Amino acid sequence: MAFNPVVDEDKCVGCEECVDVCPVEVFEMVDGKSNPVNAEECLGCESCVEVCEEGAITVEEI
Ligand code: SF4
Ligand code: SF4
Repeated sequence: MAFNPVVDEDKCVGCEECVDVCPVEVFEMVDGKSNPVNAEECLGCESCVEVCEEGAITVEEI
């Protein structure tokens, strides 16, 4: 089972909460926006989805 975390850059305000909460360091900040640079490490826990107040993150099973 694999998961694909995606950030909607138009919604991301760069708060970095998702960077801090992800247990496997999927996200890194690039030019003030979160990017799922290590997406292949995603566990599907959805902690990032819950912490993002902007609703910018979706995680789908692939
Ligand atoms: S928690 Fe949401 S708004 Fe904050 S940096 Fe991550 S994607 Fe952007
Ligand atoms: S679902 Fe969990 S493991 Fe995947 S990116 Fe979000 S916080 Fe990280």
